[in-house]
Amino acid sequence: MTDDSSRLSGFHRLDRAARLARVKEICGLEDELAGSLEAAGAPLRAVADHLVENVIGTMNVPLGIATNLIVDGEDLLVPMATEESSVIAAVCNGARQCRASGGVTTETTGPLMIGQIQITGVADPVGARAAILEARAEIEAAAAAVDPLLVELGGGLRDLEVRILDDLPETVIVHLVVDTRDAMGANAVNSMAEAVAPRLAELAGGRVALRILSNLADRRLVRARARWPIDEIGGAEVRDAIVEAGRFALADPYRATTHNKGIMNGVSAVVLATGNDTRAVEAGAHAFAARGGGYTALTRWRASAEGDLEGALEMPLAVGIVGGATKLHPTARAALRIMGIDSADRLTRIAGAVGLVQNFAALKALATVGIQRGHMTLHAKNVALMAGARGDEVERVAALLVERGEVRVDVAEAVLRDMRGEG
Ligand code: NAD
Repeated sequence: MTDDSSRLSGFHRLDRAARLARVKEICGLEDELAGSLEAAGAPLRAVADHLVENVIGTMNVPLGIATNLIVDGEDLLVPMATEESSVIAAVCNGARQCRASGGVTTETTGPLMIGQIQITGVADPVGARAAILEARAEIEAAAAAVDPLLVELGGGLRDLEVRILDDLPETVIVHLVVDTRDAMGANAVNSMAEAVAPRLAELAGGRVALRILSNLADRRLVRARARWPIDEIGGAEVRDAIVEAGRFALADPYRATTHNKGIMNGVSAVVLATGNDTRAVEAGAHAFAARGGGYTALTRWRASAEGDLEGALEMPLAVGIVGGATKLHPTARAALRIMGIDSADRLTRIAGAVGLVQNFAALKALATVGIQRGHMTLHAKNVALMAGARGDEVERVAALLVERGEVRVDVAEAVLRDMRGEG
């Protein structure tokens, strides 16, 4: 910043162009960079202004298509939004290798989200729990009145739980378990929690504290499994190496973190492409991976009775096809349309399937040739771009870098100078 203060009074009242001009001036942003913000944001200008505050542009991430996937017997194309090279290619590869056995099959536990209400200053938590549970019918009626549309669609409050935690004296935590149908449900659940909280506090003889959805969506699980025929993946040695790699991730949190990050490369790319909340899904996934007290892998790998490779994934996955940016963002709408999705449940299954296939591809690469071979070819293109290559120079420079085994910007710059006859 050339100016020394981030205190921009009235910034939110400026229009977008004026905000951008202000940031450009304060930060000494070059014309080229400001111009690219201006141009990139243009198609989504109206939407962006409604989605967040203080908008100056949009951050465009590439959207690619994962091919070869079969999910629950249906062939489909899956849009994935990611800035990371090789993620989409890996899914295409992994999905091709399990087509012969029918692709990925999935199941879900239903769209149940948990809303938490914290009630403090409770002298008798055990008595409070009894009082709340006795008033269940009354709470159910109050919850239903908050979102009649949700009830009409077959959703709404499904269960009421009261928890007493050892580390929180004089406190009860009420869980509203809500079927949110095709919505991710944060706003529906939060509204419900806020509406019923005063009555719950009265019943508990305490005070209302927090009222908020839990992102540990462990009642909204997706399970995906697939079988990779041994001949498709390169034989028993590859299968055993993948099973071994899976065991490593189950046993060691350092490995499990990266293993699960790889799964989320796929899941989050689908979640983002459809305008859903990536942070909500990621928080849920990692908390679920730690549910037993230690952090572990979200997938399991084994040899099947016939000698093939079998993989299974289980994780929470809270996504919607209504609400949030899903309906407002034209790219999200297009992504849902490309997949032919008409329910949140279907989107959940597809994202879970992509996560499993992504994990297969990563483990196979890691357990055989190593991750860098595939990565480097794509990474080399990024490096070529960074060095200033344009048009067909990008492919040519990248190929030379890979051939030399030196994928570095300084090498790319030298190659580019040679190519342009500037050397
Ligand atoms: P929402 O997901 O709660 O859903 C909005 C409404 O959709 C519901 O009230 C319901 O009545 C309706 N609905 C459900 N199924 C339907 C169907 N088939 N057809 C038509 N309507 C249907 O609301 P929202 O505003 O989209 O909230 C989700 C967003 O909230 C997320 O994207 C997230 O970014 C944000 N958020 C997240 C958290 C968190 O994760 N902790 C907290 C606050 C907000």
